[in-house]
Amino acid sequence: MTKALERARQQKVIGHSLDARVRLKAPQKLYGFLQGFGPELRELFIVSQVELGGDSDSAELTVEVGRAEGEKCQRCWVSDKSVGTNREHPEICQRCFETIRGEG
Ligand SMILES: [Zn+2]
Repeated sequence: MTKALERARQQKVIGHSLDARVRLKAPQKLYGFLQGFGPELRELFIVSQVELGGDSDSAELTVEVGRAEGEKCQRCWVSDKSVGTNREHPEICQRCFETIRGEG
């Protein structure tokens, strides 16, 4: 199962770009496996956004790469739609806001 991820990484389709958004179409078994990663899936691919979908017609993992949505967070460099929505810290994303608030 992890081979599919490795291959996707090696294909450079994914690269190490936090500007990217990855759309995965996974066969049923792999879908369940990937879903198990939850939010960590994004970190695994080192991209800003991961969209996971199922594909029952294919036995292979399909990877589509596009531009991430939202603005780039000035703290973690992840593009997220939540950037700009916080009145106190419009330059950072919701995750970072919660982190600093927690430290605060
Ligand atoms: Zn952030």
